[in-house]
Amino acid sequence: MSGEEKVSLAAAAVSAAVGAAFLSYIAPMHVWRSPARGWFWIGAGTLQLVFGTVHLRRALAGRRRRLRLAAGRCVGCGYDLTANASGACPECGAAA
Ligand SMILES: [Zn+2]
Repeated sequence: MSGEEKVSLAAAAVSAAVGAAFLSYIAPMHVWRSPARGWFWIGAGTLQLVFGTVHLRRALAGRRRRLRLAAGRCVGCGYDLTANASGACPECGAAA
C-alpha cells in the first residue's frame, strides 16, 4: 500500500467518523439547548457522514481493484484469471 493510498483511506475513515460524531454526540447536545442549532448540526453531520462514507467506499474499491490486478485476478469479482486466454472472466463476464 502506497503512502498516498494510506492517507486517502485514513482521511476517508476520519471523515466518516466525524460525521458519525456530529450526529451521535454534537447534534443531540445542541438540539437539547437550541433546536435551530441542533438542526444545523444534524444537517452538517448527515452531509459529512454521507460524503465521508462515499469517499471511504471509493478508496476501498480503488485499493481492492489494485490488489486484484496485482494478483492476476478479475477486477469485477476476484476470480483467479491465471492461464485464462479467453479475454473475459468466466465467472462474471468482465473483460480480463
Ligand atoms: Zn469476474
